[in-house]
Amino acid sequence: MSAIDKLLHQVAWDPLDFLIIDTPPGTGDTHLSIIQNIPVTGALLVTTPQKAALEVTRKGADMFKRLNIPIIGIVENMSNVVCPKCNNEITLYNGGTKMMAEELGIQFMSMTYVYIHVLYVGTTFFF
Ligand SMILES: [Zn+2]
Repeated sequence: MSAIDKLLHQVAWDPLDFLIIDTPPGTGDTHLSIIQNIPVTGALLVTTPQKAALEVTRKGADMFKRLNIPIIGIVENMSNVVCPKCNNEITLYNGGTKMMAEELGIQFMSMTYVYIHVLYVGTTFFF
């Protein structure tokens, strides 16, 4: 039994208004297992703006469309960073998520910042 089957069928859930499942990127067995086992109201896509991430997100959008799962919208994570020296906002990539959302007819919902302390912890080579 997969971890997702255990989550859905072996957890003593109280009555739920919503169940939000954060899945790994892509279009793998996890997504199909969820779609086949529970009613899915919609998918919210979250991506970072790098080309490789957008390609994975595009495949996910295609999968949800093929399976008639409504796509609620798309959120771009790690869009900008505020320079620690001059406080200017720096766009890390060039709005690729918004362009992809428009092309696919998906609502672009928001952009989020990268926080400097996260960069220091997560990618020590960045600065
Ligand atoms: Zn600066």
